[in-house]
Amino acid sequence: RGIKSAVAIPLMKKDKCLMVIFLEHSLENYFTEENEQLLSTLSLAVRLAVENAKLYSNLENMTSRDGMTGLYNCNYFEKEIANCIDVCDKFEIPFTVAAIDIDNFLVINKTYGHLCGDSVIKDIGRLLESEVRKGDIVCRINGDKYGVIFRNTQDTSSIKDRLEKVRTKICQPMNYDNTNLQVSCSFGIASTNTCENHSDYKKVAVFAEEALRTAKEQGRNKVIIYEK
Ligand code: GH3
Ligand code: MG
Repeated sequence: RGIKSAVAIPLMKKDKCLMVIFLEHSLENYFTEENEQLLSTLSLAVRLAVENAKLYSNLENMTSRDGMTGLYNCNYFEKEIANCIDVCDKFEIPFTVAAIDIDNFLVINKTYGHLCGDSVIKDIGRLLESEVRKGDIVCRINGDKYGVIFRNTQDTSSIKDRLEKVRTKICQPMNYDNTNLQVSCSFGIASTNTCENHSDYKKVAVFAEEALRTAKEQGRNKVIIYEK
């Protein structure tokens, strides 16, 4: 390519090379010692910026993720709900929320132990993540409860179909430490289409919880859509 001179400045962290700044020129012996010194100083600033960006992203991850499952946490759920309400208010873009809770989880903990309980919480979280669309958000709200935000849809009946499939999959025997155990979940769904006015958008997550309570009252292992 007609390159006659080049200089490479590695950005090192201890003995690890993070990246390389590489400059080329078509003139021979173009780069002076002064240039190299300047680039070295510049590379230090770039290295610090890269490290800061990494630290910031790790910190963001720590504040928005649940440590055990790696799912988004309750903080993030609330922030995202507020975001969806805002977007719905301004642009009439709908959203739907599902509240999900493991049935009789206390019995699982009691019968098989806490470690087994933890493993069930993680497995169901993974399953939920794999069964929703890419832009949808799966959160662990607390204990054995999850929340899912379905963006840009209020088609509660197709979301019910999707969650019915998840419910059936959860009912398949799970293997833990060579023991087969049976688990089930209850689901509540609510969407912006059940709201009469804009101030009701704030209640979508509360309505989903109400539907979840109805699912529990009706015998558990059910998917219920909220009705006024
Ligand atoms: P229901 O069908 O009404 O939901 O009954 P349940 O037994 O599941 O009752 P509930 O949802 O109130 O119980 C949740 C239990 O989950 C309470 C707590 O002991 C347990 N739990 C909370 N966090 C964790 C955890 O991180 N790991 C494990 N193993 N158990 C947890
Ligand atoms: Mg429960």
